[in-house]
Amino acid sequence: MFSKLEPTLRYTDISSNIADIDHDADAEEFEYDGRIVYRGNKDSLYTTLDVFWLYDENSTRVGLVEYSKTDHTCLWFYDNPFATLFQDTRWKSTDKVLWSLLTPEAYQDCLDTDFLKMDEYALQSDMLLITPSKIGTNLYVYQCSTCGKKTFTEPNGCSAVKRPIDYSQFFTLFLNDSFELFEPPFGFRLQGLDGLSSQEQALLEVEPELLRE
Ligand SMILES: [Zn+2]
Repeated sequence: MFSKLEPTLRYTDISSNIADIDHDADAEEFEYDGRIVYRGNKDSLYTTLDVFWLYDENSTRVGLVEYSKTDHTCLWFYDNPFATLFQDTRWKSTDKVLWSLLTPEAYQDCLDTDFLKMDEYALQSDMLLITPSKIGTNLYVYQCSTCGKKTFTEPNGCSAVKRPIDYSQFFTLFLNDSFELFEPPFGFRLQGLDGLSSQEQALLEVEPELLRE
């Protein structure tokens, strides 16, 4: 989840288990965003903000609240990893998995490589497989100036040039680690944005006005 108060901060611990610091906590009841939750200890891992994990009545971790000196905001866990990452419930599961889009031959090729090279394989069809962990990181593609082949890792026997990904040149599929496919909100697009913080990237990614005529 991208912090809303600290542009460079990304929360990577989105487990629903009790945080280590809260195992013996005497959690107090709070109301945030209209939800009654139990707030754990201040997480000392975070120094620029005061961060507290939030739990429901079953001690399931459901989100966090972050405090700056002047402001506070909650971030919630959703059952959709992209909705959690962007705090945007317009992300929807398609109830499809990647395999349903593949021809039997392509599926067999993936089986033969233990599915380890899925993203390289997709790249050959100008298709990007994007999981939540890839968003907000700078992705690079090698392209050979002779044969045109694109790869994520430096190829042997090709004179390839490494460049940041130009997302406009690819068809992007959003999926979780179990290859379930997700649909972004209308107008969502990824941009290759070297040097911007992940939150700046995330904010730039949703520009619905650009597509709505
Ligand atoms: Zn080549």
